[in-house]
Formats: sequence, C-alpha cells, structure tokens
Amino acid sequence: MQITFYGAVREVTGSMHLLETGNDRILMDCGLFQGHRKETDEKNRTLPFDAQTITNVVLSHAHIDHSGRIPLLTKNNFPGRVVCTRVTRDACKYLLLDSAHIQESDADYLNYKAVRSFLSEMKTSGSKKNISKRDLNDIKKQLKKGNHQIDTEKIEEIIRKYPIEAVVPLYSMEDAEHALESFEGYPYRSTATIGKNATCTFYEAGHILGSALSMIKVRNNGRKYTVCYTGDIGRFNKPIIKDPALHFEATDQDIDLMIMESTYGNRFHEPIKDLKKGLKKILNEAIERGGSIIIPAFAYGRTQELLYVLHELYNDKEVPRIPVFVDSPLATNITRVFGEHPEVYDLETHETFLQKGHNPFYFDQVHFVGSVEESMALNREEKPHIVISASGMCEAGRVLHHLRHKIHNPRHTILIVGYMAQNTLGRRILEQGLAYEQASRKGPPPMLKFLNKIYPLKARVRQLGGFSAHGDRDEMVRFLKTSNLRIKKIAVVHGEEDQSIAFAQHLQNEGFSAFVPNPGETIGID
Ligand SMILES: [Zn+2]
Repeated sequence: MQITFYGAVREVTGSMHLLETGNDRILMDCGLFQGHRKETDEKNRTLPFDAQTITNVVLSHAHIDHSGRIPLLTKNNFPGRVVCTRVTRDACKYLLLDSAHIQESDADYLNYKAVRSFLSEMKTSGSKKNISKRDLNDIKKQLKKGNHQIDTEKIEEIIRKYPIEAVVPLYSMEDAEHALESFEGYPYRSTATIGKNATCTFYEAGHILGSALSMIKVRNNGRKYTVCYTGDIGRFNKPIIKDPALHFEATDQDIDLMIMESTYGNRFHEPIKDLKKGLKKILNEAIERGGSIIIPAFAYGRTQELLYVLHELYNDKEVPRIPVFVDSPLATNITRVFGEHPEVYDLETHETFLQKGHNPFYFDQVHFVGSVEESMALNREEKPHIVISASGMCEAGRVLHHLRHKIHNPRHTILIVGYMAQNTLGRRILEQGLAYEQASRKGPPPMLKFLNKIYPLKARVRQLGGFSAHGDRDEMVRFLKTSNLRIKKIAVVHGEEDQSIAFAQHLQNEGFSAFVPNPGETIGID
C-alpha cells in the first residue's frame, strides 16, 4: 500500500494525494493550484495519472484549492464518486460553477488580448513602429460589444481565420455541471464505502462549515490500515462551526499515517474572544463620523461569521443598527447553504439564535444585493451602512466599485478581516493605509491605482485579526495532544516550505514522528 503526495506539498494550494492498495486507488482532494497564471496553468492542466483508473475521491471540504480540479477529473472520464459531507456537496454546487465561470472569462480575456495584438501587428504590417492610438481604439471597438463586454463570437471567428493560438478554459460551466452529478454527501460520523476494501468516516475539522477530517480505513493483504487526512484544520471556539473533533470511535483511533496541514505551522493568531469587542469599536468610530464601512471578505465562511457577529452586536444593542449589505452573488448563495444546515452548527449558535427561533444570518437590517444595477445604486448611498463584498483580497468583483466611491473620503472605513496575499490591492490598502494612520495621517495620502485610475486613500483603514479559518501552531498541537488518537507517523503538507519544515521539527520535539514529503514523492505504508 502506498501514498503519493501530488499537490499542496511544500506549498499551500493544489491539494491532492493518492492512496493505492491492491484493489483501490483513492484520491484525497483534487484541488486547483492558485497564484500567478504563468506558474499555475501548466500544473493545473496536467493530471499526473489516468483519471479513469481512480476508484473514488474523498473530498475534505469545498474550498477551490481542494475541490477545483474535480471538473477536470470528470472531464477526463473519472468513473467514480466524490464522497464528502452534505454541506461540502451543497457548497460545491456554487463554488465549482463560479470557478468554471472564472476559467471561461479568463480564457475569453486572453483570447481577446491575443486577437487584439495580432490585429495591431497586421495594421503596422509587422514594422517596428507602434500602432496609433486611434487605430488601436478602432480594433478594441471592433472586438467589444458596448464599452466593456468582449464580443466572444467575433473573437472566435477571427481565431478560426488566422494563425492565432486560442486559449481553452481549464473546464467549462458544462464540465462543472457534469462533475456535480458525481457528488455524494454524508453526515459526519457515518461511514461510507469508498472502495472494494475501503471505507471513510468524516469528523469535524473546524475549518469551514462542512469541512472534515477523513478517516480512511483499508484492508490490504489481511491487515487493516488507517489513514487520517486532516484537510484544513480550524481553530477552537470559532463562531458557528464545531471545534475540530477530539473524540474518535475506538475503531478510528489507531492511525498508521496522518496527512496534516501546516498553513500556520510556525505562526500564532490573535485570540478569538477579542473579535466582537474589536468590531464594536471600529463600527462605533465609523458611525460617529457619519461614515460607512466597506469589508472585503471571502464568500465562504468569512461573510457568514461577520453576519453572525454583527447580528449579536445588534441584538445586544452594542452598535447602532445600520443597514448591512452583502454584495456578492456567491456569498449570498453560500449563506443560503449555511441556512440550510443548522444540524452542523455548534452549541453556542443553537443557544444564541436557533433556540430563540432566529436564523443567525438573516436579520432585519441585512440585505442581499442581487443585480449589478442594485449594486451600482448602493454605491451612491449616502447614509452610514456596512458593505460586505468580494473579492476578499480586492482583486476583482463588486468590492472595487465600492472602493472607487468611498476610498477618497476620510469619513469612511475600509475594514480588513482576512489574509491579503502579496501583490494584491488588498495588501496595498492594508500596508499603506496602516502606515498613513501610524504617521497620524500627516502629509499626502497614499495613492492607489485600480480600475485604470489613481485614487487617494483617505478612508480610514482598520484591521481585525482572529478570523482565520486555520489553526495556528499551538492549536494544531492541541488537536494532536488532546485527541484520543494514537498516531504512528505524520506527513506534513499544505504549508509554505518554511512553515511545513518548522512544524515538522516542532512535532518531532513534541514526540511525534513527522516528515515533510517532496512534491510527487511516493511512500509505502506498513
Ligand atoms: Zn480550506
């Protein structure tokens, strides 16, 4: 019996590991590599095995870096099922279609650019001189419907006619729809058959709603083996979701190999209990100035946690009850999935909301913004309000339009609640905004470019930690030490290389046998 570590090995995206026995080939997650297109495209397009030989997929949770290549797998004739929790199944309906939509739009844009430069070169007949602005504008006009929308039919027509290499999306909406037919959702702590001699039981992972630790039990050559795949592990005491499981059935307690994440393998978070207090302070300050609050947030998890905490603050009359707008169609759909699965909420959510007949995510002041027109109208709203909008790192989406209307006004607040990757607008807002605050807002404000214009960052920038969906080093060790598991060996994955190595080292010091595999490495289990 052997395991090959294909993705999220010494990096954080593209989670995928393959367990092979004499009878079965079980894939754990099938995630998308994320980051710069140039570096990830090739990795995403090639599956390192024949999809037809995979028995089944065990999916830890719905995040795209864990589920995002399943449509590629089914497109390549994967014959099996995708086994996951019920929430994960329901959330994937929206996330995979959204991912396919992004793949299609990216391909459309790249094809538009290729055709544009081909036509520009034709215009200058290959000579070195640059194309005139007027000619370029003519070409752009020819390739667009109205001001913004790319004319895909026209572009396809030109690609067919000339020697231009077309970009094909990784998968289409149709491929994603097809993939969803293979999904099978199970409740936590029930056992699913996933192979000839293999079963899987899901336990709470505490990372996002529906996330699971997968306990995979295999019978091979007359012996039983248990592999525990943690997926992403969450924090203790987070709102809404249950803590990572600590008590496992007797038959699941002896682990031959644990495959464990290490995103924050060498880092520490702020305590969760300060979150409500912090949000209260930021909101009251902003409202006193007569301003609004823009919160860029991920659609899955972060948006719902914000709604939960806001609902609590409103119920306790800790802040004025100004309107809250959720302006992201994906976040609206995912909030619906949350609403449909109260059976997986934690006890606190039951006591605070459900037992009183309240839904944590729907209250009088919350509005889910639908159409683009509604979103545009909200841009012009003068009265104080809160906007929760995607994308979480301000790289695209409706949040950009809210920023465009509010970033220059010192009455307003931009509240950062998530991790901002390098080279994102969110990161620039956070770093330059906090630096400007620290300099007591003296001197000229930072200037930021987005949507083809430069804007002065005069709005207040605030940061609220503690929302992370990943456990830090101590929380992950707490999970290992307080659970009733007996673990022979730990493979440390899903972390930047320095985090994984430091975490494995720390685990060794704590008495565990741990190692960091290399990408594509295969190990035997005995
Ligand atoms: Zn995740």
